Amino acid sequence: MTTSHLGKPALAVLRKRNLELGPFAIDEAPQEASPWAHWRMRTDPDGIVWLLFDKKDSSANTLSSEVLTEFDAMLQRLESNPPRGVVIRSAKPGGFIAGADITQFRGVKDTAQIEALIASGHAVLDRLDRLHTVTIAVIHGYCLGGGLELALACDYRIAIDDASFGFPEVLLGLHPGLGGTVRLPRLINPAQAMTMMLTGRSERARRARRLGLVDAVTQERHVRGAVSAAVSGELKKAKQGFAAALLNFRPARQMLASRMASEAAKRAPRAHYPAPYALIDLWVEHGGDAAAAQKAEISSFAKLLVGDTAQNLVRVFFLRDKLKSLAGGKWGGKRVHVIGAGTMGGDIAAWCAWNGFVVTLGDTSAKAIGGAVKRAAELYGKIGRDDHRRVRDALDRLIPDLKADGVAGADLIIEAVPENLELKRKIFAAIEPKMKPEAILGSNTSSIPLEQLRDGLPRPERLVGIHFFNPVSRMQLVEIVSHDQVAPDVLADARAFLGRIDRLPAPVKSAPGFLVNRALTPYLLEALLMLDAGMKKETIDKAAVDFGMPMGPIELADEVGLDICLHVAEMLRSSLNRDMPDAPQWLKDKVAKGELGKKTGKGLYDWKDGHAVKAHEDVTPSPDTADRLILPMLDACMTCWREDVVTDDEVLDGAMIFATGFAPFRGGPMHYARTRGFADVRDTLKRLAGQYGPRFHPDPGWDTKQ
Ligand code: NAD
Repeated sequence: MTTSHLGKPALAVLRKRNLELGPFAIDEAPQEASPWAHWRMRTDPDGIVWLLFDKKDSSANTLSSEVLTEFDAMLQRLESNPPRGVVIRSAKPGGFIAGADITQFRGVKDTAQIEALIASGHAVLDRLDRLHTVTIAVIHGYCLGGGLELALACDYRIAIDDASFGFPEVLLGLHPGLGGTVRLPRLINPAQAMTMMLTGRSERARRARRLGLVDAVTQERHVRGAVSAAVSGELKKAKQGFAAALLNFRPARQMLASRMASEAAKRAPRAHYPAPYALIDLWVEHGGDAAAAQKAEISSFAKLLVGDTAQNLVRVFFLRDKLKSLAGGKWGGKRVHVIGAGTMGGDIAAWCAWNGFVVTLGDTSAKAIGGAVKRAAELYGKIGRDDHRRVRDALDRLIPDLKADGVAGADLIIEAVPENLELKRKIFAAIEPKMKPEAILGSNTSSIPLEQLRDGLPRPERLVGIHFFNPVSRMQLVEIVSHDQVAPDVLADARAFLGRIDRLPAPVKSAPGFLVNRALTPYLLEALLMLDAGMKKETIDKAAVDFGMPMGPIELADEVGLDICLHVAEMLRSSLNRDMPDAPQWLKDKVAKGELGKKTGKGLYDWKDGHAVKAHEDVTPSPDTADRLILPMLDACMTCWREDVVTDDEVLDGAMIFATGFAPFRGGPMHYARTRGFADVRDTLKRLAGQYGPRFHPDPGWDTKQ
């Protein structure tokens, strides 16, 4: 089947473009004389006005104050002479409205200014709400955040069957701010409304219909009919049920709210992520009174937006964009050959096949290939859910290749055999003569300097490090490792390849541990030293989690595998010119005994059903415990930046967030260090060095970098 560059069947994309735009022709250019830059307005033969949203110079529709000002002016015109009905529709093939234009949120500090801006947005949607005619949002594709709030201010929502609806604001440390917290709980069951806003999860059209969020689900060819039915009052409106209406009483809300707050606390503490709690408070306090709720929403949103958490999460949104843009080049490769069907190679192959590549998977062991295909089928079953055709197609594209026949036709070859220089060199020597001249040779090595791997290759410029993290399907970041002889177009193509498999590239220079492992190792080693000194593993992990890490270092070491941690630590110790403690003997003994962590069911923790068995721990770790763990990680990041292993501190922050989950609400390690003050980081490291040993000596970069 033909696939587009997004891996979606081409037909589906074409079908989506065939939007029913009422009186507008599909590919009609905006008229020169139009007073609007982002909207078009026209009346159809039935006297229904169609407002077409087509944001200028943008592939997606987002709401900005300019867009809303134009929209307001259009509504004013309609107020003076109301038509039979008004349809609001997007002209973008991808969807309705993707939400607010987030660039407007960046760096804002003045709460009063934000409140005024938001209040003017509310006034526009209130005008839409009050319009003396039937208003209908016709929605295809995504309808998110502010876009959904605009749709909620209409009388009817008609969804095309591919539409999805959500409030992702919570992921930015916010809650809906254009009336969503007021209108949604009044339209659908308030408990379900709160769940949508608290989780940020999207709902597909049919489920949205069942929730009462939309009044009809239809197909493009029936849109005109559905619009007529709405205008003539024949389309039945979705209504809140009786049980839902009970929740408009305060005691019922209070009871539910305490449950919601304890659920939210399991995901994130109030001190780090205030938005869910602010949302719950809004609902409890003002669930019964729309005018008060609106005022409260505006002030709560503004307060959140200027706060550190939202600002840092907005930063993370742009960091992701920045990494994505690094993957923006064009690379036309179609075939990938992977050598080594183990933990990494098998999963890399599966992920590439899932994302549209034809993949041949080689190994010396047929059993390893069989195991990899089985794991791929399990993965596809999980991520493909009901899309049986996509699962089948991906499995078809994943081809076992014991004889390495795929090398000759491959556009990209990724080596993922065990970490052994001689073995990797031997394999390169065998495949090199068979490769297409323009093919890229990628290595997934996590520690061998690329300069050693490229040595002896007839075309060293085609070799690049493509360092995935485990598990490949969940870890978004991949390090693209350069070396002294790599060709710039090979680096660009390797990054573009990652764009096509939906991963984020972080360009790094070949250096021991590259960036991510180098930064993580001192963090993990320090945790082991604390254990050695008698601190409880649960206390150590709690200190890191309280700081905001997704899991503590002891649990992480078990997740990664103690054998791998030990190997990386030993490699870094021998190759870096800095004071690093040796790993404790008991750790080496554990590895020798085969107690490797999660994968063997026993490591530093015992593991049951995929979870570490932890003793209950109420101890509050001292602030020094977190500093002893986090600051060495920051210091290693600083060294990488100073030594140009990574040249851009935003890429550094993004890489650490998307590879290790480094507390996103802190905006990344360098951003955190900057907020705390480089001098403070340096002085604390000096103090820790005095107390615990020279391994804490600060990098000179804290004095020279800004
Ligand atoms: P693994 O031991 O799970 O798999 C290696 C596979 O290579 C095995 O299936 C083995 O049969 C096969 N193999 C051995 N010799 C071969 C040959 N001559 N030709 C073809 N296949 C051969 O190893 P892994 O953990 O997947 O690691 C692979 C590479 O990825 C290493 O360079 C490692 O450093 C790197 N890496 C590993 C991780 C991790 O967490 N495991 C993370 C990032 C990078």
